[in-house]
Amino acid sequence: MLTIKCGKCKTKLFKYRKIGKGKVLKCHKNRIKKSYKIEKVGEEYGCPCGNVIGVDEDGAIKMNDQGFIYTGTKE
Ligand SMILES: [Zn+2]
Repeated sequence: MLTIKCGKCKTKLFKYRKIGKGKVLKCHKNRIKKSYKIEKVGEEYGCPCGNVIGVDEDGAIKMNDQGFIYTGTKE
């Protein structure tokens, strides 16, 4: 399980079940296991601090590589 955090203020945003060792390019919404502070404004997902981490795309969040960090392990 990965914990996705804001790349700016390090606030925890959500827990995500990542399958595969690759980069975190997309987060499928049905694998988001717990939401913390993630906010949706229009098509954009982000942190309460205003940092945008990704955009809505067909049941997933297309992640902005510069916008987030994560801790934890991939499966
Ligand atoms: Zn933030």
